[in-house]
Amino acid sequence: VALLQEKGITDKHVLDAIKKIPRHLFLNSSFEDYAYQDKAFPIGAGQTISQPWVVAKMTEALIENKIPKTVLEIGTGPGYQTAVLASLGIQVFTVERIDELLRTARPRFRQLKLNELIRSKHDDGNLGWAENGPFDAILLTCAAPALVDPLLMQLADPGVFISPVGTDANKQILVRIEKRDGVISEHDLGSVSFVPLLPGVM
Ligand code: SAH
Repeated sequence: VALLQEKGITDKHVLDAIKKIPRHLFLNSSFEDYAYQDKAFPIGAGQTISQPWVVAKMTEALIENKIPKTVLEIGTGPGYQTAVLASLGIQVFTVERIDELLRTARPRFRQLKLNELIRSKHDDGNLGWAENGPFDAILLTCAAPALVDPLLMQLADPGVFISPVGTDANKQILVRIEKRDGVISEHDLGSVSFVPLLPGVM
């Protein structure tokens, strides 16, 4: 938490949420000792757990004006970001295309007693989760070549959509989209590096 504060994270809700969720539970045992470093690590299936600063930054951008009641997260991965959101009392709907990762993440949600706030499904996140929308906020935790339209359509009004955009890992931008009174506005939050949002085939 001190490291995140040094790196510019100021939102008290975010810092408290990070403090509450033990990140070592979300890593394979070989990386457990490094869990509190501000680094991304492999989690299997060619995927990674995001760097804590990225999780904090995205969460901060998501709750900037008001903590949303519902969030759709695409890319559950190890479930760390999901747990951070749920610890803020948010009802989280999370979609992951690699079943093995979801099967590893779910027991962690139960262990932290956050399972009632989290609904997860194995599916292609490009489609969102229409039957539970519209969502107060949407968080994409992998990079898309451009804004994903079906997701934008599942965003409530008012609503906030946080998305890494770009195909080249060194040239991705984190974008914050706000929908208000039918008008979409866009702000860049700086450069990031995410694994790609994979295409629809499961
Ligand atoms: N939220 C994570 C990081 C996720 S890594 C954290 O807490 O650190 C990105 C995840 O997006 C990977 O698990 C990857 O499998 C998933 N992903 C990629 N393409 C996807 C798609 N089309 N639908 C759902 N999940 C996808």
